[in-house]
Amino acid sequence: METTVKATNVVWHPHHVSREERAAQKKQKPCVIWFTGLSGAGKSTIANALEGELYRRGYHSYLLDGDNIRHGLNKDLGFSDADRVENIRRIGEVAKLFADAGLIVLTAFISPFRADREMIRKIMPPGEFFEVYVHAPLDLCESRDPKGLYKKARAGQIKNFTGIDSPYEAPENPELTINTGELTVEQSVQKLLAFLKERGRL
Ligand code: ADP
Repeated sequence: METTVKATNVVWHPHHVSREERAAQKKQKPCVIWFTGLSGAGKSTIANALEGELYRRGYHSYLLDGDNIRHGLNKDLGFSDADRVENIRRIGEVAKLFADAGLIVLTAFISPFRADREMIRKIMPPGEFFEVYVHAPLDLCESRDPKGLYKKARAGQIKNFTGIDSPYEAPENPELTINTGELTVEQSVQKLLAFLKERGRL
């Protein structure tokens, strides 16, 4: 049977939905909150608690953390310096896309190298990247050892472990520092909320 295209004059008006429109639809100002610090410093704990609080307040967010990335997108990467750089580069690009989609993005990765973090800052629109240094002394992180990784690293079962036999370059000018040796999780979340409010994000 012959079929004809009847509607030959229908032209879709290409409407490119802008990042501003996507954000406005969600009634929020997207940004990337980049948590960095030693393993066990409290990045995941605080990022999760902050995301819970943002959710309760009606914000749209997404938390990128080690497990959901290293088991999926970056499962081909290990912990050599080159792989760590690529790991963070990809996470930065994903965080940027998610912010572009209108979300408040939280990332919880050791991200030990200063240059890598600065690279992410550069690809983000100005004022939308917040580096949060989650700080705790190495001995405190090691005593917490939530995943038993320090124990393995000390026993030589894990190589290139940040703080043991791989360097951690502390941020020089982070937007915020959270000392988890002094603040409770709740106090840290309050500090972050106050900061985001001050920066006009909430
Ligand atoms: P990271 O993501 O930096 O590797 P985690 O959040 O996985 O660290 O682990 C930090 C551990 O320290 C958790 O077991 C958490 O319960 C504990 N902890 C104790 N006190 C604090 C605090 N004040 N802030 C954050 N975490 C804390």
